[in-house]
Amino acid sequence: MQAEYDNQNIFARILRGELPCFKIYEDADTIAFMDIMPQTDGHALVVPKEQAVDLFGLSEAGAAAAIKSTQRVARAVREAFQPDGMVITQFNGVAAGQTVPHIHFHIVPRYADQPIRGHAREQQDMAVLKEHAERVIAALAKLPA
Ligand code: AMP
Repeated sequence: MQAEYDNQNIFARILRGELPCFKIYEDADTIAFMDIMPQTDGHALVVPKEQAVDLFGLSEAGAAAAIKSTQRVARAVREAFQPDGMVITQFNGVAAGQTVPHIHFHIVPRYADQPIRGHAREQQDMAVLKEHAERVIAALAKLPA
């Protein structure tokens, strides 16, 4: 059973340009922006443009495009923040921790000396987010096509 898509969810509104975000990447099928409540410095989200609540509602082509973008943005985040490791996550359903009902992938850098912050808990300072976005955009510009 597919979950019903609510086109007023916050990522749908960002995709339509109704709400702002610190965008770092966009192609025909996906956009990526900084998570506003980052669990660690450099936490970014890759969001397919396709209207799907979760992985089960996403087309195979959409899934392929999403993982390709996730890999590319993750490479740039790694270059920009030089973390010790990186977690890629994707939650399906409230019971799994999903808070925004539009499919997305989390890119969460991990640092040996930095504990992870709570999920969707504390809003980051906008100036810090802007600077982090700029770092990722600069790293993306240096990646081979
Ligand atoms: P999930 O719980 O997997 O649905 O993740 C949703 C993520 O979106 C959380 O990590 C939130 O911090 C993040 N988030 C919520 N609203 C915004 C927003 N307006 N801009 C950027 N990230 C957001």
